[in-house]
Formats: sequence, structure tokens, C-alpha cells
Amino acid sequence: MIPYGRQSIGEDDIAAVVNVLRGDWLTQGPEIESFETAIADYVQTKYAVAFSSCTAALHAAHWAAGLGAGDNVFTSPITFIATANAARYVGATPSLIDIDPDTLNINLARLPDTAGAVVPVHFAGLPVDLRQPSWHEEPRVVIEDAAHALGASTPDGPVGNCSRGDMTCFSFHPVKPITSGEGGMVTTNDADLAEKLRIFRSHGIVRKPEQGEWYYEATELGMHYRMTDVQAALGRSQLKRIDFFIERRNEIAERYRDKLRDIEELVLPPAAPAGFTHGYHLFAVRVERRRELFDFLRQRGIWVQVHYVPVHFHPISRDISVQPGSLREAEYAYERLLSLPIHPSLTVAEQDEVISSIKTFFS
Ligand SMILES: *Cc1c(COP(=O)(O)O)cnc(C)c1O
Repeated sequence: MIPYGRQSIGEDDIAAVVNVLRGDWLTQGPEIESFETAIADYVQTKYAVAFSSCTAALHAAHWAAGLGAGDNVFTSPITFIATANAARYVGATPSLIDIDPDTLNINLARLPDTAGAVVPVHFAGLPVDLRQPSWHEEPRVVIEDAAHALGASTPDGPVGNCSRGDMTCFSFHPVKPITSGEGGMVTTNDADLAEKLRIFRSHGIVRKPEQGEWYYEATELGMHYRMTDVQAALGRSQLKRIDFFIERRNEIAERYRDKLRDIEELVLPPAAPAGFTHGYHLFAVRVERRRELFDFLRQRGIWVQVHYVPVHFHPISRDISVQPGSLREAEYAYERLLSLPIHPSLTVAEQDEVISSIKTFFS
């Protein structure tokens, strides 16, 4: 089977994890802080706060931003359901804006002036261009969902540096750019937000040593969203190879472009504009006969996938009012989207098998 995505684990990663297992801490030890510092250095932010998943990170970011009942949180329909659920967790209302059919990213020009918050998702690893504030009035809160985009960059610098937003959330699930098994991270330049994120991830607890070394108070309704040291050690070890991972993904993408460009029925994904680096978490083509091609490739052991069933198609999204036709581009794209295998350990022979199978299908 050739999966659409998978982790790439090296001997160094294994040694890093074993090292933690032999040590004194399994959770909340020194590895968490080291991983946080490594991510903050890599994306060039002041702060990074680790979580048990990106879903937890998104929840915490919405909470730290003070979002809640009465707030509309705008995002793209073409994303994983966790993006929209974050608004729900804090009692806010998720709202959807159609995509730009060229980039498959949220079309920020459609953002209403009254938006309380926007969560741009860097779909497939192609950064949303936040440099052109198409909004007349800036939304109160900007939280980037960069689950696909660690290692991607814009002319502003690395995705996650929060130069145009408040917080950025990353995922370290095995198919994502680097993995910690499960895990997430929020980056920010705001000390106050960083502090809130830390409190939220650990039961809302604040320590008050002046009243005794043991003394702490639960000041907020927090969660238990901590990452373990085992996960952090894996994540930090993986981060050392991020540049190689991104390079490999870009090579694979270029090879797909080269070998598939003559197939008229396939729309290839948008390339990164000048000054941008694409993370290529996904290589999502668009094709009219998506269902047939999906089944054909799956039967041949090529584990293609569809990203994503639009947010408003899920029964949980009955709280989102969608005007007929308002998400036309997203629905049109969804009918055609198909993610081909792309990950750092995909071999040339495997990629050739994918390419020749697609050619066989269309011949
Ligand atoms: C994977 C993903 C998430 C959730 O990440 P987890 O770490 O699995 O919780 C959120 N948003 C997007 C766009 C994702 O792809």
C-alpha cells in the first residue's frame, strides 16, 4: 500500500524517545520547554506553547483570545472539522467564507467588516497571503491554522511568526510536516496570550508559592491538554529534519507536475507564488471523474484520500447558516479534489507507480 501521507522516523528520533524513557520525567519535564524553544526559534516567534494535539491548541487559542458567545469565527469550508469545532468549544459560532478557487484557501476579500475573528487555514501547506489586508476593518482576532504548514514561508518569514496575526496553531499528527505521535503547538509574540495558553492547558491552575510551595489555585476552567516529554523529544528530534522534509515534498510535487502536466483532465494544485515556500503537506489535484479515479487507485493499493468533506456538510454544522450558492467554489472544488501520495519517505518507484496508474486510468 502507498499511503497519501505517513511519518518518517529515523534512528535519531528513536534514540531521543528512548532517552526520555530512561530518564526521570515522562511528562512535563525538560523536553517540553526544549521543544517549545526549538519551535519558537524555527518560526521566529517569542513564545511557543505545546499541547496534546492541534485540536487542543486551537481550542486554547480561541479561549486565550477571549472568543465566546456572540462571536463569529470565520474560516474556510475546505478544512478539517477541528478548525470549526474550536469556535464551538468556546461557545462562539463558526462561520464559513468561500475559497479562492485558484489557491483553495479562504478568500479573505469576502470577510465581512464585522468579523470578530478569522482562522485562515494554510490548506495543503500553501500559505494564505495575509499581507494584503483585503479587510477594511481588521478582525479582532487572527488565529492561523497551520496544521499543514510548518516549514512553509511567505515574504514575511516563516508561517507561524505571527507577523500578521495573534496566534498560529500547528499539528504533529503522523501525517503532518513533523510528528510527535500526537501533539500541537501555539506560537505567539504576545506574553499575555502565552501565559493564558499555559494556564488553560493545565486545569486553569496558577501557582502561588508566596502562600506555600504547595499552593495553587484553579482560576479558570482549563483543560488537561499537556504534551508528554516522550512526545516532545520526538517532535524536537523531527524538527531537526524539517528542511529536508520540506525539500523532499517540493521535489515530489515538482515531479508530479512534470509527469502529469499533459493530462488535460487533471487540474494540478497551485504552485507557491514568488517569495513563498509551499509546505506540500498535500498534493491535491482536481479531477471531474474523482470517484472513479479514487476507486481505481485504491484498488491498486494507492491510498489516495479526499481533503476535505466541507465543514458545512457535516451534521454538526447545523449551527452554520449557509446562503445558497455562497460556498459555491468550495463545493465545486470538493467534488473534484483528490490527494495523491506525498511524504518524505515516498520512493521514486512508488511515485512512478502512482503516475503510471493515473496515466493508465486516463488512457
Ligand atoms: C490535522 C488538522 C487539525 C487537527 O490536528 P490534530 O493534531 O490531529 O488535533 C486541525 N486543522 C487542520 C487543517 C488539520 O489538518
